[in-house]
Amino acid sequence: MRTDFEAQLRAVSLRVTRPRLAVLTALHDHPHVDTETMIALVRDQHPTVSHQAVYDVLRALTDAGLVRRIQPAGANARYESRVGDNHHHVVCRSCGAIADVDCAVGHAPCLTGSDDHGYVIDEAEVVFWGTCPDCAAARTTQ
Ligand SMILES: [Zn+2]
Ligand SMILES: [Zn+2]
Repeated sequence: MRTDFEAQLRAVSLRVTRPRLAVLTALHDHPHVDTETMIALVRDQHPTVSHQAVYDVLRALTDAGLVRRIQPAGANARYESRVGDNHHHVVCRSCGAIADVDCAVGHAPCLTGSDDHGYVIDEAEVVFWGTCPDCAAARTTQ
């Protein structure tokens, strides 16, 4: 089933524009892309959309909660359209590939600190670091 991006935009009171639809569509098909990759994807389909427009759309969609921005330490910011479920990520140290990791149990925050210092916690940010299957395979065949 195709996600209804126009309805998503209307649900957060954002005007439906071609650049916004283009970014949401590209993110749906290519989760965890960085800004440069997103610009290339969008301009491949819509050559008239400017770099600045893609930056602006990513910021607007992130602010509206339709897009989640993740930034693993030492890596470029990545974007994804899977939001609101507090899922985590596994990142390859070699090539930077990213995959989703669902929470093992319970609801967000799925990790409960031993001491919350009185804070009301609504998110737990966890990044698993390792080697992706492709890089692991390349290493063993060298
Ligand atoms: Zn890798
Ligand atoms: Zn993700």
